[in-house]
Amino acid sequence: MAKKSLVALVKGTDIQENVTKVFDLMGGVENVIRKGSTVVLKPNAGHAEPPETSVCTNPEVVRAVIREVKKANPKRIIVAEAAAIGCDTEECFRVSGIAAVAEEEGVELKDIKRDKDLVNVAVRGYRSNIDHVLLPKFLMEADHLINLPILKAHASMVFSGALKNIKGVVQDKVHMQMHQQNLTMAMMDVWSACRADINIMDAMRAASGYSPHMPVPIETNMILGSKDPVAIDRVACEVTGIDTSCVDYFKVAKETGLGNYDLEDIEVVGNTIEESYKKMWIPYIGDMSTRWPEYDVKCEGACSSCQALLAINMEELKAVNEYDKNAGMTVVIGGKNEIPKDIPDEKIVLHGNCTKKYLKDHPNAYWILGCPPNEPALYLTVQRKEVINGMGDQEEEIIRPCMARDAAVWRDFVFKAADKYYEEHPDER
Ligand code: SF4
Repeated sequence: MAKKSLVALVKGTDIQENVTKVFDLMGGVENVIRKGSTVVLKPNAGHAEPPETSVCTNPEVVRAVIREVKKANPKRIIVAEAAAIGCDTEECFRVSGIAAVAEEEGVELKDIKRDKDLVNVAVRGYRSNIDHVLLPKFLMEADHLINLPILKAHASMVFSGALKNIKGVVQDKVHMQMHQQNLTMAMMDVWSACRADINIMDAMRAASGYSPHMPVPIETNMILGSKDPVAIDRVACEVTGIDTSCVDYFKVAKETGLGNYDLEDIEVVGNTIEESYKKMWIPYIGDMSTRWPEYDVKCEGACSSCQALLAINMEELKAVNEYDKNAGMTVVIGGKNEIPKDIPDEKIVLHGNCTKKYLKDHPNAYWILGCPPNEPALYLTVQRKEVINGMGDQEEEIIRPCMARDAAVWRDFVFKAADKYYEEHPDER
């Protein structure tokens, strides 16, 4: 039997108290952080969004961890991040409130994207095409890497926690390479090259809804901690009612032996899952084939990432008043579909790398690249307004300006949907 992984789970409204208790439950900060060591903290600061949105790790959680780590007398504490493609890390640090905390606490901030001192690290047993990855030397030489994710629903991964957050240690070139293949495999390969030894998860105000683009924060009031990234993510899902069979990356994490997934191999200490339970509202999980009867949706063989993206994009079409106008389109995700030859090519949108093969019979269909594809590309492609084949790599020129243009109506749509959901499920509010 696998050795049990310990996950500390602490519920409460005081962030510092929660973080201190989590370290105590993990054996005490002096025992997990070596005196005189260099400690790198990797929060999620991938987008320039303020704390109230729950897109980035809450700066007060970062502060609480810094203060806790200081008790172990480290030599150096560094807060490091490489923001999402197209985002400026320094701006993300500033807007998220993390830059101010780092300054007030007297610790260093590092933008991994601008780091020139890189080392080429081999990925043993790689499963994507990432056999080597360029990583900052300071990160590889640090004594401790503390992964500080925020718990959130995630448009392209269904759920985002500890395993996904380490994606933010690579520069844009590798990041882009990861997105153009099976992202789950690529993520696990990066983990294999750069393992955090401690994971502290900010689950104070988890991001539900259509996160990360349109999160609806909910008061979950928890901090979790573990040395095992798979175990902490599994417990985070259990405690927020996320069906883990909908999260593909667990399958790969299990196969790669990154940690324990089965609950019998995990020991939860502190509060129990039952007494901490707070359900997340994740409206994109569920049956895809019949949910939008005005469209011909083909989804055989689709991964959960593409299913989630499909749901988000179909709802976004409604939000921008384009759903009815484009009814009758055939939308294809996954690589196990039959597409009748008599469907005109201009009525077909193929979403994702594994659908490219259908271009053989439908050479003029619209095809969006990526695995998973760029998150909001589908709702734009269905409108056939700003599209060319291969869209998915045109984030800067096409996708981001459209997202900015549609953000207000999409936000309104999502928050109304959340209000309706919580009116109908008052016990989950
Ligand atoms: S493009 Fe295909 S293989 Fe990639 S995530 Fe989507 S369904 Fe899965």
